[in-house]
Amino acid sequence: MNTTEQIKEKAAEYRDYTAENLSRIVQIPSLSGEEEAVIARLKTMLEEAGFDDVRIDGLGNLIGRVGYGPKTLAIDAHIDTVDTGDLAQWETDPFSGLVRGGLVLGRGTVDQKGGAASMITGGRILKEMGYDGEYSVYFTFTIMEEDCDGLCWKYLIEAEKLVPDCVVITEPTNLGLYRGHRGRMEMEVHFSGRSAHGSAPERGDNAIYKSCRAGLAIEALHQRLKTDPFLGKGSIAVTYIASQSPSLCAIPDGCMMHLDRRLTWGETLESAVQEVTAAIGEDARVIVPLYDRPSYRGTVFAQDKYFPTWKLAEDHPFVRAGVKAATLILGEAPRVDKWVFSTNAVAICGRHGIPCIGFGPGNEVLAHAPNEHIPVDHLQQASAFYALLPFVLEQSR
Ligand SMILES: [Zn+2]
Repeated sequence: MNTTEQIKEKAAEYRDYTAENLSRIVQIPSLSGEEEAVIARLKTMLEEAGFDDVRIDGLGNLIGRVGYGPKTLAIDAHIDTVDTGDLAQWETDPFSGLVRGGLVLGRGTVDQKGGAASMITGGRILKEMGYDGEYSVYFTFTIMEEDCDGLCWKYLIEAEKLVPDCVVITEPTNLGLYRGHRGRMEMEVHFSGRSAHGSAPERGDNAIYKSCRAGLAIEALHQRLKTDPFLGKGSIAVTYIASQSPSLCAIPDGCMMHLDRRLTWGETLESAVQEVTAAIGEDARVIVPLYDRPSYRGTVFAQDKYFPTWKLAEDHPFVRAGVKAATLILGEAPRVDKWVFSTNAVAICGRHGIPCIGFGPGNEVLAHAPNEHIPVDHLQQASAFYALLPFVLEQSR
């Protein structure tokens, strides 16, 4: 029996095991910054599955390894989730982890504990096959992604010195093969004015009026932003505004506007800040805020809220290997596409230039939505893909 058939057979054998593991981790809530319990459970699962090495890093990410090869492939799932939202909109308890009608139900099944469960099975299959090829395969179960995408991987690369040759992101792709997404960043624009009595506004300098003019300039700037044939258009929007004033009967002397910026190909932190400064033309201060929330281990690894754009060319060797592995597993060529949302690849490929591809179970339209659920078929096929990819990479050099 050839390698692909052997892997597909094992993934089918482990179908219920994969669904059960997903069910168990869905039953452990894990909001960003509160992942300790689910990481502990996953650690036990990796140990039971026979991984060669299992450890938790200084931030709180869980890292399992199979193989001892000189090259490094990493396969990543973030295991934090967003909150449930309005419980009245859920037909079942979001933390039930019910396995029913060929589906696993609950918060995080699609985004993206399903990828995590499939990875455990993928590693288990590699171990059972006695994999000793040219790759060390790292399975990373990462934290805080929903709060600050890529921070966990910035830590793995810069502090833990885990610098892979290539990385698979297992966020939902509906079993498509993804090769990029837009980046994003946040900006704060601070305006100063001069306070005066509200009964005589001409004596003061109203910071809110400055910010209103700037808001209209931002609306116009959005229309001029450039587009990329694959990733689509960049965008900018005012998402929050706050002012300060000695009283409601006084002219405000300060105002702050928060901006959400989506970055397409070729747009950077520097270019985006420069455009805003030029568009506003007022005397305002533009800053990129810092994310400095501690992890569940108490570790602070601050970074600016800049999440760079990334894409790989359609004929990049890693994309071609991903397409080949997916074709072998699915029996037909996968859809090659991009995510609409952002992933950990902003740090891995966007900041550090390490090639990434995406392949994950579940339909991304269910991410962050009520009644999130995932087909067990997808879990099975994804687990086979993760086990097969190291073999395909080796052949396709
Ligand atoms: Zn996600």
